[in-house]
Amino acid sequence: MTQRISPVFVSHGAPTLVLEDHPARHFLARLGHDLPRPKGILCVSAHWETEEPMVSTAERPETIHDFHGFPEQLYRLQYPAPGAPDLARRAAGLLRAAGLPCGEDPSRGLDHGAWSPLILIYPDADVPVTQLSIQPGKSPDHHLAVGRALSAFPDEGVLVLASGGAVHNLGQFRVDRRNAADWAIAFEDWLTERLAAGDAAALAKYEGMSEGAKAHPTDDHFLPLFVALGAAGSGARGRALHRSFAHGSLAMSAYAMERAAA
Ligand code: ZN
Repeated sequence: MTQRISPVFVSHGAPTLVLEDHPARHFLARLGHDLPRPKGILCVSAHWETEEPMVSTAERPETIHDFHGFPEQLYRLQYPAPGAPDLARRAAGLLRAAGLPCGEDPSRGLDHGAWSPLILIYPDADVPVTQLSIQPGKSPDHHLAVGRALSAFPDEGVLVLASGGAVHNLGQFRVDRRNAADWAIAFEDWLTERLAAGDAAALAKYEGMSEGAKAHPTDDHFLPLFVALGAAGSGARGRALHRSFAHGSLAMSAYAMERAAA
């Protein structure tokens, strides 16, 4: 029997997280041991932005070093996990069956939103992985609908891993600061409470929350959360797995999206 795997949202922070001694790094390094072993991973990264949903059907996805000005050793890291073209095509089919378009990209590799958490969660790179893109400028409700179309995956032993940031404001980023700004703490508290309450409607209106615009000046690192929440089914709740801050303006929190009780 296949064990259900709740969709998970993680905050990937700066690319240097994989080199840092930070609580979020230690959390991610434990996570693969705490989750049921997945048959495959569908990763929804903040760093693949397209007009309409796209999946990667690459057999051997390359490691994309999509960042600039970071330490040399980060550019040498490789994440040689096998691709998951069949899983990607199934995701595309589920989206189309739900009335959503979905394209297929046979050459897209893994961006750092995918591989930087995965290299900590599954360092052996032995779980097949594909990516699904986000659509910046489209609403949280669109991303919830994308997730809901994929709500068969948790029961099939597929890990829907959304990777973004619980709070993500690079304009306020401070290299040497671990303690967070008041507005970042307020937004992360609100997020954690609304997820625990399963309040998707309030979450989808996060821009109206007083700290919303400061927590997410752009929507790209928050939208993956809605795909994970949607994939857990309607009425799902988010349980905090980890909460911490980095660089003053990033929340590194992670949540398991658990389905509503029957
Ligand atoms: Zn990022």
